[in-house]
Amino acid sequence: MSRLVCLCLGVAPGGHTGGELSAGPCTTKVGATSSQDTTISAVSRSWWPNAESHHTVRATIAPVADCLFCKIVAGDIPAERVAESSRTVAFRDINPQAPTHVLVIPKDHYPDLASLASSDADLLAEVAVQAQQVAEAEGIAAGGYRVVFNTGAEAGQTVFHVHAHVLGGRRMAWPPG
Ligand code: 5GP
Ligand code: ZN
Repeated sequence: MSRLVCLCLGVAPGGHTGGELSAGPCTTKVGATSSQDTTISAVSRSWWPNAESHHTVRATIAPVADCLFCKIVAGDIPAERVAESSRTVAFRDINPQAPTHVLVIPKDHYPDLASLASSDADLLAEVAVQAQQVAEAEGIAAGGYRVVFNTGAEAGQTVFHVHAHVLGGRRMAWPPG
């Protein structure tokens, strides 16, 4: 089940004290954020435009039962993890296409880049930062590396849990195949 979590730390004029919300002023103000459809995109937005501080409401997305990468996040399928943050994880691709081939994913399930970008731009930025950190740790940042989000079947996406491919350690061709 998804949750609504208010991050305003109790400074909202609505008077709540932050934390997990199942009802109350914040839930009302952000409107209905579905917790029934686990494939739904999360919400992360300022909902109190006139307030002096930021008020962000975020829906925590439940794992999708038949999603390979949700299973890797949960530890149900093993993967060689190379980096992890509270909301992202990076692990080596099982079929590497370059000397370094790491996948960086949000722990929450979003099917593709479009859904992540439109729902939680902060989380997308965290994925990008972790991609850079992985490149640094793998020693490919200085020489150059490629970050790829295959988006949609036509582009070659086969796992519909958004992921950034971080590829490096060899010279990359352009245009891509
Ligand atoms: P896509 O084709 O969706 O852009 O990328 C999916 C990637 O996931 C592929 O590069 C594929 O090799 C990788 N992959 C598929 N199954 C597994 C797995 O079980 N473990 C790991 N670590 N990578 C996987
Ligand atoms: Zn997933």
